[in-house]
Amino acid sequence: MLASRGDAVVVDLERRNRDANRPNSVFVELEAANRHRGQQPEMTQVLTLLLASSECSLRCTMCDLWRNTLNEPTPPGALPEQIRLGLRHWREQTGRESGGTIKLYNSGNFFDPRTTPSVDDEEILRLCEPFDRVVVENHPLIGTRRLFEFGKRLRGKLEIAVGLECIAPRMLERLNKRLRPGQFFQFAKHLKEASIDLRVFLIHGLPWLAPAESYAWTIASARFAAAAGARHISLLPCRTGNGFMDRLAREGMFCPPTRKQMRVVMAALENDPRFDHGPVLTLDTWGLEPEPVELSESVTAEPKNDATHDV
Ligand code: SF4
Repeated sequence: MLASRGDAVVVDLERRNRDANRPNSVFVELEAANRHRGQQPEMTQVLTLLLASSECSLRCTMCDLWRNTLNEPTPPGALPEQIRLGLRHWREQTGRESGGTIKLYNSGNFFDPRTTPSVDDEEILRLCEPFDRVVVENHPLIGTRRLFEFGKRLRGKLEIAVGLECIAPRMLERLNKRLRPGQFFQFAKHLKEASIDLRVFLIHGLPWLAPAESYAWTIASARFAAAAGARHISLLPCRTGNGFMDRLAREGMFCPPTRKQMRVVMAALENDPRFDHGPVLTLDTWGLEPEPVELSESVTAEPKNDATHDV
């Protein structure tokens, strides 16, 4: 897999953000805060920061998030500086001083000291004070003591976003996730005991599964995540772009799911009575083939979702 990264690295070299004091992206969006079938969800305003920080140490097979990372450990003080910039943008855009959600997504594990130097915790906690909810990505086996401490000291609610991906047998091993479904379930239990919320990323259309298997395992994975207590499940298509997936695609062993396949599985989840009262379900369209444009009809843009990042 690592050898396959070469091409993607060369293509990306020019485009990558090398400035540790500047986030890769900052945007404000609306997101559903709850789900009750047949009712309009309450919406919440979300400030999302795609932070520039050090590369995740795990290197999962399908992950392309390293393309957005720095070549070095994140320097102390850099993340607070990026968050301050994001807050300025949020105030200018919304005129707000408090409320809503902030997502601090850093293409890795927030509580890994290489990603977020622990000397910055105090200042990050202070900068997050205006927000009712703070969402960060973190693998269940990394930095958990620090995670629970951070949750205790945060004014708002902490929500941890975890990439469960797919619970098909041996799939997590194939993806090199260093995570078993049982470990995920235990972690979810500890989060619940500490009043910390859980967001789950699932990947649909992984290689090694036929389309019908993929459909069945995505639904089973969502049920598993909901049973573990996920407040929000975000579904992503498996995509090329990290080198390894591109090689599988060239060799005819991987074909990214189509928009139609994603919509079919999403509709099945939305109509599943087990999800009538939550979790929130969202489809991330990042990496999907473009929507065909019907020239005779007006086109409605799909909402932007959150799972462009995954841990
Ligand atoms: S999927 Fe998450 S845990 Fe795996 S390499 Fe990517 S950022 Fe790290």
